[in-house]
Amino acid sequence: MARRWGQRLGGLRGLLTGSTGSTIRAHNLRAVLFAFLRQESVSRAQLAQITGLSSTSITNLVRGLIRQGVLAEVKPQRRRAGQPPVPRGVGRPQRALRLVPDARFALGVHIDVDRVYLALTDLYGRPRLTDTLTLTEGISAADALQQISERAAQVIAASAVPPGLILGVGLGASGLVEPETGINRIAPGLGWQDVPVVDTLSARLRLPVAVENNVRAMALAETFWGAGQNASSLAFIYGRVGVGAGLALDGKLYRGANGGAGEIGHITLIPTAGERCRCGNTGCLETLVSEAAIGRAAAHLDLPAGEGSVLERLLQAARGGHADAVNLLDERARYLGIGLATVVTVFNPEVIVLGGFFARAWDLLGPAATATLRERTFAGMGERTRIEVTRFQEQAGVIGAAALALQAFFFEPSET
Ligand SMILES: [Zn+2]
Repeated sequence: MARRWGQRLGGLRGLLTGSTGSTIRAHNLRAVLFAFLRQESVSRAQLAQITGLSSTSITNLVRGLIRQGVLAEVKPQRRRAGQPPVPRGVGRPQRALRLVPDARFALGVHIDVDRVYLALTDLYGRPRLTDTLTLTEGISAADALQQISERAAQVIAASAVPPGLILGVGLGASGLVEPETGINRIAPGLGWQDVPVVDTLSARLRLPVAVENNVRAMALAETFWGAGQNASSLAFIYGRVGVGAGLALDGKLYRGANGGAGEIGHITLIPTAGERCRCGNTGCLETLVSEAAIGRAAAHLDLPAGEGSVLERLLQAARGGHADAVNLLDERARYLGIGLATVVTVFNPEVIVLGGFFARAWDLLGPAATATLRERTFAGMGERTRIEVTRFQEQAGVIGAAALALQAFFFEPSET
């Protein structure tokens, strides 16, 4: 990932270069920075405890990071009236340290099937500036990447962030992605094949680029800052144009041997006479619970007239108690529940996080999907799975994309 640009090291190069031991220093640096993902403020003593490094190593690393503006000491809170004075110990007081949120920035780019979301975020993945780009149907990969790089450059320019503080670009791409080669192998919704997304964007933007499947990127955001922060395993379930899962285990994304882990949209639910899926098969979960699938089914209902797409009208009608609308969503939620039960049976995650359409309609889908999950899992595993809706809402993809860049160029910089 981003080998060509690895020497930038997110502006932390001075801490890693040296005649010997740069690999060890990189490892130590990662351990220290990662501690700040888990907790807002950490003291030097806690850092030594968490990382297992000597207090001398911690002191040196922290001094370097403060000099680079990445860490700062938390100012001690003023003593409130009536509180006893804090006894001053001998020697240096143990002041807590925190990350300086705007010490560095990352650009997240989430490519969905018809839209591209961009966001420049700080070190906590909080967007400073966002933008979206609509892709015309059937657009070639070359034209799309040209438009994306132009828009990305505009976002960076408009942010007024000094270019030296931008660590790099995280790209959440659609379909099957190879992070090592930076190639988007297959994006079925876009009709792309073997597109060198990393080389193209990094050459245009003169920034390092890290790429991953877009739903896996959402799982990373939840692991960093969301529902999965303290979970040992997490499955992010996303449904919009396509349906997929991003799996994270012990804080790391699980990709599978060929990068296809989590392609739950293509679990067969209707073995015969199911609808044709865009993967070429029939009766896949995606043909039952994607936005388009539910929209197609809703078109046959007698829904009250109103604003927006047939899908929006379906949700409105269901919220108003329209029986056919409620029944359709219940039926589709049960299929989604079978998908969730399959995820739980195979992967047994501590937490499932829902995103996209599933999050937007969870008030309607949740009861039947959860009941089905519980009925169809072994030994009560479904009962013990925590289920949450993404707190990042529509920005889950773009914040996830920024998380990719922060992981690759800040929290886990390579030493090469
Ligand atoms: Zn399929």
